[in-house]
Amino acid sequence: MLSKRDKKIIWHPFTQEHTAGLPLAISRAKGSYLYDEHGKAYLDLISSWWVNLHGHGNEQIAKSIFEQAMQLEHVIFAGFTHAPAVELCEALKKCLPAMLERFFFSDNGSTCVEAALKMAYQYWHNLEGKASRNLFLCFDGGYHGDTFGAMSAGRSHFHGKFEQLFFKSIAIPFPATFENDHDVESKEQNALDALDEQLTKFGEQAAAIIVESLVQGASGMRMCRPSFLKAVIEKVRQYGILVIFDEVMTGFGRTGTLFALDQVDAVPDFLCLSKGITGGFLPLALTVTTNQIYSAFWSDQWDKAFAHGHSYTANPLACRAAITSLQLLLGSETQVAITAINVAHKAGLKYLAQRTGAAKNFRVLGTIAAFEIENISPNFKATCLNEGMLIRPLGNAVYLLPPYSTTALELKDSYEKLSKIITY
Ligand SMILES: *Cc1c(COP(=O)(O)O)cnc(C)c1O
Repeated sequence: MLSKRDKKIIWHPFTQEHTAGLPLAISRAKGSYLYDEHGKAYLDLISSWWVNLHGHGNEQIAKSIFEQAMQLEHVIFAGFTHAPAVELCEALKKCLPAMLERFFFSDNGSTCVEAALKMAYQYWHNLEGKASRNLFLCFDGGYHGDTFGAMSAGRSHFHGKFEQLFFKSIAIPFPATFENDHDVESKEQNALDALDEQLTKFGEQAAAIIVESLVQGASGMRMCRPSFLKAVIEKVRQYGILVIFDEVMTGFGRTGTLFALDQVDAVPDFLCLSKGITGGFLPLALTVTTNQIYSAFWSDQWDKAFAHGHSYTANPLACRAAITSLQLLLGSETQVAITAINVAHKAGLKYLAQRTGAAKNFRVLGTIAAFEIENISPNFKATCLNEGMLIRPLGNAVYLLPPYSTTALELKDSYEKLSKIITY
């Protein structure tokens, strides 16, 4: 049995191997479903860790990868280029605010965040000839990846034990909100007051602020209002602090618009993209920035260059997958599907609210729905799997973040199953 052979040899991510039991062996996937060794189907309600966009096994993406592989599978990206990289950036540029016009490739969410943090830091160094701004601002509950820079600029409870090794960052409270939240204004005011206090003390020392725009993913799909983000940006800009939007999770339609920044009346200096970028087929990431940042690295001196890069930078197969995925995403069929998912979420949460008192703090943004369950059962995930649903709560937070191939009927069915699983 594959699961048992795995257990003998493989070490899995985010897993306590001793208590985890056997991993589920998936032998194939199509559309919104995964199929295990025995043919049992699971509706992939978390888009396989937030990466899948159009459903599994999308034939157009698969075909474009095959064709690219026959042409050019990979080439070093320092001093070289290729059509898939250029075409992808040209296509994305058309979808972004005009100021975001310079694209730096890497290959996962953590590395595109690392690139943004390092660029922000070196920007000040290049301008002033010394390390003048040595800290970052971030948010309570922020998650930006598991590498050291990303951990330092985050506040994930997964990372506490590494704290002694982190660079300095200062966290601002995050005013997480939900439907019928009567305290949202006071929470936002409290966060802005805390920000003011830190800016007065450290405003001249902060290189940048990093934020998961509109939705904090890993800390439990915690949402804030666009007007709050705008207010934060206005305040930090008064100190010249650069703004990094981490849209690794929120990008590519998840929040109902192409990017979450489309709902915030402000443009960041850096935009971090990964996860859904290839439709969930291959690892790829981009750090997008402005010409103002780029020009600070433009010099006769090599020392001012950005000395950073990864082996698989701008992998042509991944770029080609991303181009096809973006075309699908911009098509009217996908846009209709995104709206339908949003409508189904709203109806589903209402249905749940009427049937259980244990679920609370309901919230929806685009294709993301979430709520909390008091005293969630440790068996919750296993029960959902039994019922043919892949759902992975984050602490007490249950969320649905389905691929855009998921139908309103499939979601209705899932909410009905959930209402039976949450029995109190
Ligand atoms: C997942 C995630 C990351 C890290 O991406 P990896 O590809 O797992 O390294 C960074 N930021 C956000 C907001 C994420 O959700």
